[in-house]
Amino acid sequence: MVCKNCKMELPVYASYCPSCGMKVHKPPLHHDIDTTKGPQHEAHARHVDWLFEPVYREIERRLDEPNVDKPELFDTAHRIEAEVLKGNAANPQKISRWLRFYQEVAPDLLALTVAALLGTDSDVSPAVRSAVLEHAALPA
Ligand SMILES: [Zn+2]
Repeated sequence: MVCKNCKMELPVYASYCPSCGMKVHKPPLHHDIDTTKGPQHEAHARHVDWLFEPVYREIERRLDEPNVDKPELFDTAHRIEAEVLKGNAANPQKISRWLRFYQEVAPDLLALTVAALLGTDSDVSPAVRSAVLEHAALPA
């Protein structure tokens, strides 16, 4: 995506163009639309997008740190979300590994992600839920 104003290539997480400061208008969708099968699955994907919104917002708001790049954080949120959208086929080990990454570099994001995944209406598979619960039990 490029800035409508100055045509600079924008970082995926940007709310504002880093070059000219213009507000970036983004659709409130994070998942890849072509991965969903049918309207019901798409509706669920949009619901999960909504649950993950606080995670993405926090990534945008964070200050730059020398040890971790925002695209890494963004990409991890995106991967977790995509994996969760596989429903019962989601791989809890992968999700666990990405949560460990957050735990190491961004405990605030871990807390937000765990909250999104354990919400009563998140509808994650039982295997994913127990993997997430292990991280919820750890001190942030
Ligand atoms: Zn710009």
